[in-house]
Amino acid sequence: MGPLKPDISIRKLTDLDLPGLWKSGIRGLLLDADNSLIPYGTMSLPDGYRTWLDDALAQGFSIVILTNNFKRRATLIKRLIGLPVVYGWVKPWPWGMAKAVKELGMPKERILLVGDQLFTDVLGAKVAGLSSALVDPLAAKEHAWTRLMRRLERLAGR
Ligand SMILES: [Mg+2]
Repeated sequence: MGPLKPDISIRKLTDLDLPGLWKSGIRGLLLDADNSLIPYGTMSLPDGYRTWLDDALAQGFSIVILTNNFKRRATLIKRLIGLPVVYGWVKPWPWGMAKAVKELGMPKERILLVGDQLFTDVLGAKVAGLSSALVDPLAAKEHAWTRLMRRLERLAGR
């Protein structure tokens, strides 16, 4: 399996098979914020996502939000979602990923990272030895930098 191949590919976060993940030993979810959980350019959760998060917590999963955004937006995200947020130059850098894993406080074998980008999310998961799930981006509108990454993703065969 190449470094840019996710373990799971799904359309959206809420399509994750939580009971199946639990059975396979996953106990912690690292969720990318922008365009996996919160549509780019907005500050709200899509319909059903709040309920999904609450269900996952009720089933016993620990959840930490990941964002490469800096403090201002990270604070807004934390206020919106009410879960721990690890932010800054997190993905795919080893030190950032280590911080995220430490925040969940469990062995890497028990952690699944969910995100919409190969070069930050999936690569970050590989760097840290975590399982990964790739979702389709929630909004078509993206950062100029992300658009460049998409072109590279297509070259990498996504
Ligand atoms: Mg994202």
